[in-house]
Amino acid sequence: MIVLITGPSGAGKSTFVHKLMADDDRLAFSISTTTRPIREGEVDGRDYDFVDDETFDQLVEEDAFVEWAHVHDNRYGTRRSRLDEMVAAGKIPILDIDVQGGVKVIDMHGPELVSVFLFPPSWDELELRLRSRATDTDEVIATRLKNARLEVGFAGRYTYWLVNDDLDQAVRRMAAIILAESCRSGAFQTSPLE
Ligand code: ADP
Ligand code: 5GP
Repeated sequence: MIVLITGPSGAGKSTFVHKLMADDDRLAFSISTTTRPIREGEVDGRDYDFVDDETFDQLVEEDAFVEWAHVHDNRYGTRRSRLDEMVAAGKIPILDIDVQGGVKVIDMHGPELVSVFLFPPSWDELELRLRSRATDTDEVIATRLKNARLEVGFAGRYTYWLVNDDLDQAVRRMAAIILAESCRSGAFQTSPLE
């Protein structure tokens, strides 16, 4: 199983994913590679692999990414090697990636992919969350809000929809989705009786 979480910036994806992971040690966060500058409080190699433009170009040339995308003026990508390491360690990779990168991942995978679109409860609340996070300039926030209107147009490509109003409730629902998905007949390598 691979879990893909997407949604507009500010919907609460990283907050949601951290809480979900705290309750389930089978999940492992897929660390993306980005050209975005590091923010205060972030750690290179934990939150992202932070690289410069030249290094990103080289990784693209080497076909090192499962998918990559331009998101809000920077580039972000999921490294094949990162995913392989997690699967080899018996973990369930959890990807927090942008809406269009997520669609590329959906197009590449079969039923092992559990795709989830996380909605904010309202447009006003989305703006409030972006402002309260206090990590971005007004200009960046305006770009993110504009992009969010386009991104919700892709929500129909995702199997599950969750509204991140009450965080605990959204996380409980996600845990229920993972539980149900792990009981699919196709999730078993062999019959339990063999
Ligand atoms: P994303 O990863 O989707 O860009 P973040 O996880 O950074 O979003 O969340 C954006 C802001 O919203 C943060 O300040 C976070 O604390 C807040 N937030 C996230 N989930 C909730 C929630 N359910 N209720 C209220 N605030 C939330
Ligand atoms: P932030 O700069 O706020 O950390 O992330 C901005 C956006 O980039 C978020 O929507 C996040 O989901 C997305 N993102 C993070 N990693 C990846 C990735 O590997 N690929 C793609 N396509 N998007 C990513």
